[in-house]
Amino acid sequence: MTTADSKIKVLLVDDDPAMRRILSRWLARGGYPVQVASDGQEALEAVERDCPDVILTDWEMPRMSGLDLCRRVRAMPLDHYVYILFLTVRSASLELVSAMEAGADDFLSKPVLEAELLARLRSCTRVLELERRLTLMARTDPLTGLLTQRSFYEGLEKEWQRAKRFHVPLSCVMLDLDFFKRVNDIHGHQAGDVVLKSMAQLLLEGCRASDSVCRYGGEEFCVMLPETREADAVSWAERVRARLSSLVIPIGPSEVRLSGSLGVAERYDETRSAEQLVDLADQALLYAKRSGRDRVVAYQTVSDAVNPGGLQPAFWDDVFAGATAGQVMAPLDTLLYETDTIDRAADFFARTGVNSTPVVDGRGKLCGVLSEKDLMPNMVQASLWQQPVRSVMRPHVVCYPEDTLIRPIYEFLCRVSIRRVVVVKDGRPTGTISRSTLLHWCRKALRRPATAGL
Ligand code: GH3
Ligand code: MG
Ligand code: MG
Ligand code: MG
Repeated sequence: MTTADSKIKVLLVDDDPAMRRILSRWLARGGYPVQVASDGQEALEAVERDCPDVILTDWEMPRMSGLDLCRRVRAMPLDHYVYILFLTVRSASLELVSAMEAGADDFLSKPVLEAELLARLRSCTRVLELERRLTLMARTDPLTGLLTQRSFYEGLEKEWQRAKRFHVPLSCVMLDLDFFKRVNDIHGHQAGDVVLKSMAQLLLEGCRASDSVCRYGGEEFCVMLPETREADAVSWAERVRARLSSLVIPIGPSEVRLSGSLGVAERYDETRSAEQLVDLADQALLYAKRSGRDRVVAYQTVSDAVNPGGLQPAFWDDVFAGATAGQVMAPLDTLLYETDTIDRAADFFARTGVNSTPVVDGRGKLCGVLSEKDLMPNMVQASLWQQPVRSVMRPHVVCYPEDTLIRPIYEFLCRVSIRRVVVVKDGRPTGTISRSTLLHWCRKALRRPATAGL
């Protein structure tokens, strides 16, 4: 049953061929599409194949009775409610009670009259229509019409199992609108709602039938891309980003333009659950936000350590009180220019013993970050050693001004898999804060006596 006026599909189950013939004819005359089955067992197979909206079933049948059929159907995880109507000569109230407890919705006494059968079906259409509307309300976000987080996870869970069993890829994309609060502040909450609806439309237009999009929360959206590798999910996300940044949304006499940050993650064998996959996309999104917004970041490109998790930010509150990035950072002694050669970068890493460094442009402004790992693909070809660092560095850098309080930096490093952030003053890198810088600083702040061997 897809629309309000489309007829419900009926499965007629009776072991008496004459009954099946007569009832089928009446149902057809009433305009109801009908499938028939001659006992409970056959009916169950029909439900699995093409689930009806209504089961009109006889009580006594060989192999499987109507009562057992009813119990079995109620135990099946079906996509929609199936209304079960019993045809019976039984009228003892105890028997009717047992049928209702097995999940029956209504009874029709034999001998059946055509007018009564059709009247019952009209009443059951009303019940099913209401059920369908309620399900739709619970499954979809009223503003955008997208799936809610809960129903998104139901679909993601199914895809997760399929991906695991058949070894097919599965990716997730998280999108958060940039500075969305300003839209509300400048143009009003209703304008914000219009923007959210446009965003939902834009995402749906870019999707295949097998993809699913949800409003994850406020101005965050999550998309599931089955049979999609991370690299292809990144291309998809990049197209969404580009379309969003060129979108102009008219709001009364003015117009709104905005951008979004996107995080992408693919499921791997070591990814533990559907929730973790979404969390990895969210970590990549956080990285995209911290490294400048209006960009797509893939989890694989930023993960070089396992997320520590389990830390309790609240516990550290008093330790951090008032400390800023400039006070905590490890000052930067040397760095690389984007025009330096890869050869020089390799020498730099060997001499300094660090494994990643900020990269600056001719004016000394931060423009990227380079790690030893970024050099690996180039080291096997001698000709590439003379290429500039610019060609292999990562242009998205997570950076914080020196006067940033240390608490959000701590929380960022707890949450994401990257190990260090860059500290800047007027856009020029002055230091870095890594997890070990923080640990070292906290240890001193807590004035723990140094323990030999630690
Ligand atoms: P950032 O780039 O860091 O994500 O900044 P932001 O302003 O987008 O993020 P922030 O989390 O500060 O603000 C999100 C805003 O989204 C705040 C909230 O009022 C607004 N919002 C959430 N749900 C709705 C909604 O249904 N309608 C409207 N109009 N605004 C909403
Ligand atoms: Mg019978
Ligand atoms: Mg948000
Ligand atoms: Mg936002």
